[in-house]
Amino acid sequence: VKIAIASGKGGTGKTSLSTNLAAMWSKEEPVVLCDLDVEEPNSALFFHAELIRQEVKFKKIPVWKEDTCSLCGQCKDVCNFNAIIKLGKKIMVFPELCHSCHACSELCPTSSLPMKDYRMGELKHFHDGPLNFIESKLDIGQEQAVPLIRQTLNYLDQHFDKDLISILDSPPGTSCPVIEATKDADFVILITEPTPFGFHDLKLAVETMEELGKQFGVVINRHGIGNSAVEEYCLENEIPLIAKIPNKREIAELYAKGKLVYPHVNEFREAILQVKMYLQEHIL
Ligand code: SF4
Ligand code: SF4
Repeated sequence: VKIAIASGKGGTGKTSLSTNLAAMWSKEEPVVLCDLDVEEPNSALFFHAELIRQEVKFKKIPVWKEDTCSLCGQCKDVCNFNAIIKLGKKIMVFPELCHSCHACSELCPTSSLPMKDYRMGELKHFHDGPLNFIESKLDIGQEQAVPLIRQTLNYLDQHFDKDLISILDSPPGTSCPVIEATKDADFVILITEPTPFGFHDLKLAVETMEELGKQFGVVINRHGIGNSAVEEYCLENEIPLIAKIPNKREIAELYAKGKLVYPHVNEFREAILQVKMYLQEHIL
């Protein structure tokens, strides 16, 4: 069972919710937490788990064969991502921009662009009793999160039973990486703050989830700041408001120290418990 935790923008408490929910739930049954925020994974800070596996991850990129190329230019025309250009008598590929779609390679009339492995990042798998934790990180300079997210989800599918509770800490935003991270989820939790910015980003995230046809609900973080626009919006649009995490300095301080919050702050624990119970009742 895949539960994705997403938000319209970064810094809204996504990692805090993911890590605390996974840790609390794993006291009752096995849970796997997967950090898919591959540009900046930081869930690992909150666990002291044992590293049991480490894999370098590759994507396929076209490699130009100068000796057979006729310089027809079709490859650069077909690439939607500007990852391949023709410069005088040379074809240049920009691996960081390549989406590994194979189009140029397949179209090339002289087979001068075979696809080869190109390192993009690393996956790590940690284990701590009933909690498994997987994180992937893009190498510095790599810009394409989608292929690494896809491979991380493949790893999850290959190594864990599909009935197991899987919590996916998704990348922020509403673009391709978050779509890749949430598209196979059984349920998506959108976490937001009750501020005008939070509200704006939430509406975009809701639109994305509706387009994907996902079942989703909202958690408000730092409840007490801002205004009630997010709550009214959820009510008007019949979006389940699953929990409200109070705005408390203690929570921010524990988080900043890399500590799990739920064992120390009652109101926070209550909110995480509500999320868990909602999911148990509606999704499992
Ligand atoms: S499509 Fe093939 S032959 Fe044409 S320019 Fe590109 S690499 Fe060369
Ligand atoms: S594989 Fe696709 S994205 Fe990569 S260079 Fe070729 S056409 Fe562009």
